[in-house]
Amino acid sequence: MTRALYPGSFDPITNGHIDIIKRAKKVFDQLVVAVVKNPSKSTFFTLQERSDLTERVLRTDGIPDVEIITYDGLLVDCAEKQGVETIVRGLRVNSDFDYEFQMALTNRDLNEDIESVFFMTSGEYSFLSSSIVKEVKRYGGDISSFVPSLVDKALEDKFKRLT
Ligand code: ADP
Repeated sequence: MTRALYPGSFDPITNGHIDIIKRAKKVFDQLVVAVVKNPSKSTFFTLQERSDLTERVLRTDGIPDVEIITYDGLLVDCAEKQGVETIVRGLRVNSDFDYEFQMALTNRDLNEDIESVFFMTSGEYSFLSSSIVKEVKRYGGDISSFVPSLVDKALEDKFKRLT
C-alpha cells in the first residue's frame, strides 16, 4: 500500500490543489492532505476553517482514500509520524521551483528516507493560487472557475464578516 503526504496552507483549497490531489491519487493508494498550522505567511482562514473547507470539498467531490490532518512543526516529523515516505508538492511557474528545490533538499537533509515528488500543474491552473483567488474575491471578481462553490461561499461570508 503506497501512501503519500500532500502538505500546504490551503488558504483556501483551490481547483489547482484539487487537480494535484486527484492526480496524486492515481499514483498513490492513499493520500494524507496535511494542513499546516503556522505557515510562514499569515493566513486569511483559521486552521480549523482551512481544514474544514478542505474536508468538505473532498467529501463533496467524492474523492476516496484521502485523509485530512493538521500539523505543526517540521514536515519530515509529520511524515514520519504518518508512516509516509513520500511528500507530494505541486509545481507551477519558475518561482515555485526555487522554493520547492530548497525545501526538498532541506527535508532530505533532515531525513534522507523521505523523498519529495512533484506534480507539474495542469495548464489551466498554472496561474492559480490561493492568494490570487482571495485578491479577486476581495474586489468582487468572479472566482467560480477557480474554486468549488462552497469555497466561494466561505470567502464571501468571511469578507462580509470582516467589513
Ligand atoms: P504552501 O504555503 O505550503 O505553498 P499552498 O497551499 O499554497 O501551500 O500550496 C500547497 C502545494 O500545492 C504547493 O506545492 C503548491 O506549489 C501547490 N499548488 C498550489 N496551487 C497549485 C496549482 N494551481 N497548480 C499546481 N500546484 C499548486
